[in-house]
Amino acid sequence: MSRYLSERHARLEAYTPGEQPKDRRYIKLNTNESPFPPSPGVQAAVSEEVGRLQLYSDPLCRDLNRKAAEVYGVGEDHILMTNGSDEILQFAFMAFGDESRPFAFPDLTYGFYSVFADLHGIPYTRVPLREDLGICVEDYDGHHGPIVIANPNAPTGRLLPPDAIDYLVRTHRDAPVIIDEAYIDFGGESAIPLVDRYDNLLVTRTFSKSFSMAGARLGFGIAQPTLIRDLDLMKYSTNPYNVNRMTMAAGVAALRDIDYYRENCRRIMKTRERVAKQLRTMGFFVTDSMANFLFVRHGQVGGEALYHALRARGILVRHFDTPAIRDFNRITVGSDDEMNALLKAITEVLDDKGYPIKENV
Ligand SMILES: *Cc1c(COP(=O)(O)O)cnc(C)c1O
Repeated sequence: MSRYLSERHARLEAYTPGEQPKDRRYIKLNTNESPFPPSPGVQAAVSEEVGRLQLYSDPLCRDLNRKAAEVYGVGEDHILMTNGSDEILQFAFMAFGDESRPFAFPDLTYGFYSVFADLHGIPYTRVPLREDLGICVEDYDGHHGPIVIANPNAPTGRLLPPDAIDYLVRTHRDAPVIIDEAYIDFGGESAIPLVDRYDNLLVTRTFSKSFSMAGARLGFGIAQPTLIRDLDLMKYSTNPYNVNRMTMAAGVAALRDIDYYRENCRRIMKTRERVAKQLRTMGFFVTDSMANFLFVRHGQVGGEALYHALRARGILVRHFDTPAIRDFNRITVGSDDEMNALLKAITEVLDDKGYPIKENV
């Protein structure tokens, strides 16, 4: 750091994205990207838009909002499009948190929440998960201030049902409750229908996972217009053109091709269930994930050892250097071929380490 860095950021610890090494070709199962390319409609829409790049993008995102409003069954004034969902999450921290409005979120969840809070000087409480790595919404009783919950949660994949979300929103009417639905398309039920009932609910979504567009950076929030206006204030105070022309065109096209993405999600869910079952047979503890990743622990081989052994075999998975989950790995559900390569590599690793797979463990 230079001597010019402001004092308030001197101890800031930034978010660490999953690695993207270039030294060889890897099977990438470490950042929850989709194994499927965007739909042909997206590719065509983006090429066409390139010819208009001399013009700023529409700060109101009208075409995209109209299409999203139709798909998600809400009014156009209930939507705010952002540069990835990370941006709308950051807007929520900026808009709703301060010294007297501390945030609460699970102690094991998406790593960016604490980074945003630290960046903006917002205090926060980390609420422990239960023994089964699930979230218990009653554990948030008595917290006064905004709450952010990833549903399904990351990196556990555990899903809360709509009545649990309803409870959380209903019992915290004094502050916004943010439900981060980055992984909801992989089998969960969305909280979007609750938005009409509660003016303190913000649901956030991303095109990065189920829409195969991590590289385009597109996300959005759905809430009542009063809350959307608070977030808009943050957008117009930082970057009014936060969604670029190519990404906007890609988003409209992706929503038109929604059946293609729904089918991809079904394939990923099917692969997820098959691989989870196989890993359990191989002696792994596997959480009941409703996301496009599995969170797994082998009794004998540690999370870091497995990460390195798979990396040496050309497969990247995620290992978190956090004491509570040091024995775990988070593995993105890729294509069937990718997952077969993973299972084969894991079998070799277990064999090498002298833990041959027993049937019916
Ligand atoms: C991936 C992810 C996001 C953010 O994704 P963007 O690429 O910024 O849209 C947000 N929350 C969770 C829990 C995620 O896993």
